[in-house]
Amino acid sequence: MDLGLKGKWAIVSGASKGLGYACAHALAQEGVNLVLTSRTAATLAESSARIKADTGVQVIAIPADIKTEQGRKLVLAAAPQVDILVNNAGGPPPGDFRDFSRDDWIAALEGNMLSPIEMIKATVDGMIERKFGRIVNITSAAVKAPVDNLCLSNGARSGLTGFTGGVARQIAGHNVTLNNLLPGKFETDRLRGNNAQRATAENLPYEELVSRQIKTIPAGRFGIPAEFGHACAFLCSAYAGYITGQNLLIDGGAYAGTL
Ligand code: NAP
Repeated sequence: MDLGLKGKWAIVSGASKGLGYACAHALAQEGVNLVLTSRTAATLAESSARIKADTGVQVIAIPADIKTEQGRKLVLAAAPQVDILVNNAGGPPPGDFRDFSRDDWIAALEGNMLSPIEMIKATVDGMIERKFGRIVNITSAAVKAPVDNLCLSNGARSGLTGFTGGVARQIAGHNVTLNNLLPGKFETDRLRGNNAQRATAENLPYEELVSRQIKTIPAGRFGIPAEFGHACAFLCSAYAGYITGQNLLIDGGAYAGTL
């Protein structure tokens, strides 16, 4: 299926690994040119080169911290135009809520709520003028079902979710959509790192922890990042113009609610 995106330009942040990389790769397979960012220049250069070699699209790699104003400026300046915006960055650290200071909370809000809001503000009016725009925030299943040791993530991402719900309705009339994708458990460095920390905290062998987690997922496995990337590409497609203001959970059935 051709998603109708050839020649569009996308910014994807947090794009050198994991879910961000998968979104970038899936968009590139649809002929979307990319401005990619993440902090570690070498990993970003490798990932960008791989996407370019696989798909032949134009890829501009900007090593930057998207959580900073300076980083966002660099990325925005590099994009000839922004038709698609995929907001993503690392999540806040796990831990007991008692141990987090006000500064920890401010950092989580800056990174996982205010930074995507700034990126949306900077790009949405161009999308409105051109009558095409697709914005996807990578948030977390924790927005629907908070995870006990991820209180910073639960809180900051819920703030972003409320914001996007309101804005999505203001821009829908211009063929600009705004949705959140909520990953459950996907096999990435982030998941492996969180699980290693949890295994130590619970005094369990890592493999035992993983096998217990998998038993709670009806699909019987962790998600594969490419599955997430293709869902993102569809939400960004020409055919998804009537899907907006949604929070799409991709979790192998782990969340048991009907809505
Ligand atoms: P990952 O494998 O750790 O990849 C994170 C990517 O973001 C890397 O490319 C990283 O590169 C980049 N990045 C991190 N901080 C950044 C920053 N400040 N500015 C620019 N780039 C940054 O993580 P992931 O599993 O793909 O997770 C992506 C998002 O989904 C995270 O917010 C995570 O919390 C959320 N999530 C993931 C899962 C899961 O199961 N994987 C579940 C729920 C939610 P550098 O470090 O070089 O910058």
